[in-house]
Amino acid sequence: MKFGGTSVGSAKRMKEVAQIICDGDKNLVVLSAMSGTTNQLVEIADYLYKKNPTGAMELINKLEMSYYPVVDELYSTKEYKEKGNDLISSFFEFLRSFTNLSDTFTIFEEKIILAQGELISTNLFNNYLNEIGKRAVLLPALEFAKTDKNGEPDTMFIQEELNKKIAENKSAEIFVTQGYICRNFYGEIDNLQRGGSDYSASLFGAAIKASEIQIWTDIDGMHNNDPRFVEGTTPIPMLHFEEAAELAYFGAKILHPTCILPAKLANIPVRLLNTMQPDAKGTLISNKSKQGVIEAVAAKDGITAIKIKSGRMLLAYGFLRKVFEIFESYQTSIDMITTSEVGVSLTIDNTKHLTEILNDLKKFGTVTIDEDMVIICVVGDLDYSNVGFQAQVLSAVKDIPVRMVSYGGSNYNISLLVKKEDKVKALNALSDKLFKQK
Ligand code: ADP
Ligand code: ASP
Ligand code: MG
Repeated sequence: MKFGGTSVGSAKRMKEVAQIICDGDKNLVVLSAMSGTTNQLVEIADYLYKKNPTGAMELINKLEMSYYPVVDELYSTKEYKEKGNDLISSFFEFLRSFTNLSDTFTIFEEKIILAQGELISTNLFNNYLNEIGKRAVLLPALEFAKTDKNGEPDTMFIQEELNKKIAENKSAEIFVTQGYICRNFYGEIDNLQRGGSDYSASLFGAAIKASEIQIWTDIDGMHNNDPRFVEGTTPIPMLHFEEAAELAYFGAKILHPTCILPAKLANIPVRLLNTMQPDAKGTLISNKSKQGVIEAVAAKDGITAIKIKSGRMLLAYGFLRKVFEIFESYQTSIDMITTSEVGVSLTIDNTKHLTEILNDLKKFGTVTIDEDMVIICVVGDLDYSNVGFQAQVLSAVKDIPVRMVSYGGSNYNISLLVKKEDKVKALNALSDKLFKQK
């Protein structure tokens, strides 16, 4: 059971989480940092990078002060209030130690700082469970969440170590651990990228062969469009793993992009639930899908489209391989691709090596780019035998310039590439056509 930042964002919320998790089953509970904390830690690190220890110190002190009222409200006994206050002051004393470093501030220190949010929230929460008499044990994620040489989760290690720790605590009813944080191949403190607690939950759930992985957040499940940009969106009761993975990858913030994969590989259903409304049905993600419907729309920002036009492409086998090799050599993944006999267009979201990529591509033809684009991803039962589905999607965006269309890559998706300024219009037009005109 994973609870995000808002779900543990106050003493009151933590108490609600305690009620949800104590349901009579043995549960592994994965927590994020309290909402806002990771952003603050990012800013603190930013001040330290910029060699402004005073700026960092101010933020550290301010963040520390926000925690004492939480401690006061969370615990009822003097003993636990004192314990909580000591815990907070020692964490923040540690953070302050970074402001008088004589060495330069590096990514290693930054990652240690970013890890403190989850360490604080889980310690506070575990102590609360103990105060109210639950048999809860805190399992330090830094002892079992590990990535390998390629920065990918070391699933064997996670499985062995996590199960060992659970077996060592036979009488515990609740296990509490941190999402997001891990150690890398070299044993250094690292993380699974922003929003990565969902990924932790899925990895840990798969490692312990959980009966279900629950992602508890601040909304009643995966909605059929992005509620931040479209009004009147509604929760989807059931999604296939593939559909959920596409939505997460293409911008549905409710799930971290990679979080579905471990659950899918282990065939463990994922349920999205709302901490603020625990009785709402939410979304069940499994290997079952609803036939004959378009389920949802999502949008992924910050996309660059690259077009390579080449006379030589005509009947030239091996052309695409050469193009792909360039992206591979700069470890840049491609999201969308469309081809014609004289050219190929593709999109990337990582522009770190854009200049080098463009230079290399120019060997093969004329290269042009479109920046600030958005992928709009439409997900559902989009098998080609469902005649007319793609026509509905395209007719919804008939007044919007569409740079690329990709259909048929999987049975679950149609992607459209539009300009950033047309994103909200496209999302709304699709909602009107696909979900409201029924
Ligand atoms: P947490 O802190 O619990 O991980 P997030 O903020 O990461 O929560 O994710 C939940 C948010 O995702 C929602 O509040 C909502 O604004 C946003 N969101 C974006 N797209 C969707 C969608 N399709 N369905 C539900 N929520 C979405
Ligand atoms: N606390 C981390 C973040 O804000 C991880 C997470 O919440 O999933 O990105
Ligand atoms: Mg999240």
